[in-house]
Amino acid sequence: MDLFEREKVLLAPYAMHSAASRGRTYPESPHPYRAPFQRDRDRIVHSAAYRRLSAKTQVFTGEAGDYHRTRLTHTIEVASVARTLARALRLNEDLVEALALAHDLGHPPFGHAGESALDRCLAADGGFCHNRHALRIVTEIEQRYPDFPGLNLSLEVLEGQAARANKQAAAERPLLEAQVVDAADSVTYDTHDADDALELGLISIQELLDLPLWRQAEVRVRRRHHSLDDAQLRRAILHELIDCQVGGLLACAQARLTDFDIDSVDAARRAPPIVAPSDELAEQKLELERFLAERVYRHPRLLTMRTAAQQMLAEMFAGYLARTALLPDAYRARAAHVGWPRTVADYIAGMTDRYAQQEHARLFA
Ligand code: MG
Repeated sequence: MDLFEREKVLLAPYAMHSAASRGRTYPESPHPYRAPFQRDRDRIVHSAAYRRLSAKTQVFTGEAGDYHRTRLTHTIEVASVARTLARALRLNEDLVEALALAHDLGHPPFGHAGESALDRCLAADGGFCHNRHALRIVTEIEQRYPDFPGLNLSLEVLEGQAARANKQAAAERPLLEAQVVDAADSVTYDTHDADDALELGLISIQELLDLPLWRQAEVRVRRRHHSLDDAQLRRAILHELIDCQVGGLLACAQARLTDFDIDSVDAARRAPPIVAPSDELAEQKLELERFLAERVYRHPRLLTMRTAAQQMLAEMFAGYLARTALLPDAYRARAAHVGWPRTVADYIAGMTDRYAQQEHARLFA
C-alpha cells in the first residue's frame, strides 16, 4: 500500500496527514519509501544536536550520579509517551515522534541554569530561549546537507516547535500532534523528576505520599499488590502515575473531540485545547509541580551546581567574545549575519556539560 493511502486508512480525519503537508522551505523530491514526517524524524535522530543531548543536564548534572535522566533519556521518554497518545487518538505518529525528539534540542549545557545564564549574556541582543534556539538549530545551525542549511524539516514540524516558543502569540491552536507532545512532556517530567529526586535522597516517598496525585496512585497500587517493599512500591507508583495521566489525557481528549465535533485539522485549530488534563488532574499536577519547585529545583545541592554552572558559562561568553578567533570557522562565518554575541551563545549552547567544563578549564580558568 502506498504511504499516503496507508495514512488514510489508519489516521483520524483530524490528524495531520502527510499528503496535506505544506512541504519544506527548500523543495525536495519525495522519498521512495519514507513519508515526509518519517524523514524529519530520521534527520533529527542523525543530527549532532540530538546526539549531544546524551551529555546535557535534564535536572541533575552528571556529577550527581548515574541513575537520573539526561536530556536524551527524557526526550526518549517523551517520545514514547507521545507515541502512545498519538496511536490511541489515531494521530500522525511520525509527526509526533519528530516533534518529541526535537522538542529539547535547543537546551544549552546545564539545563535551565545554562539557559538563564545565556539569556542574561544576550540581554541586549534578544535574549536566549531554548525553544526558539531549537528552531535555529534545525533551520540554520546544523550543517549536514549540501543543498540547504539546517535540516530542512517539514513546515508542520517547524510550526509545532514555533508554537512551543510563542505560547501566547499564536492566533490558532497548535496541531493535535503538537498538543500531544506538550502533554507527554509534562507527564514525563512530573513523574521522573520526582523519581530522580527520590533516588538522590533529596526528598522522601512519605512527602510525596502527602500529595493527592501520589496518595491516590498508592491506593490503587495497594489494591492490586498487598505486600510491597519500599522500592517496589515506588516503582509501582511511578508506573501507575504515567498510566493514570495518559489514561486521563486520552479520556479527556476523546470527550472533547466529540463535544467540539472535531472532524478536521482546521476544526482542531479553532477549538479549545483538546489534549489537556481534566481540571482535577491539572490541579493535582500543579500541586506536585509546586512541591518539586520548592523541594527539588531549589534544593541547596542544585542551587550550588546552578550557580557554578552559570558563572562558568558567563565567563566563557565573555572569554570567547574577547577572543573570537577561538571559535570554530563554521561559527565565525555566521557572525556577519547574526553578530558576535549571538554567535558566541550559539557555540556555547551547542556544547555538552562535559565539553563546556573542559573548554572552560582549558581556555578561561
Ligand atoms: Mg522536555
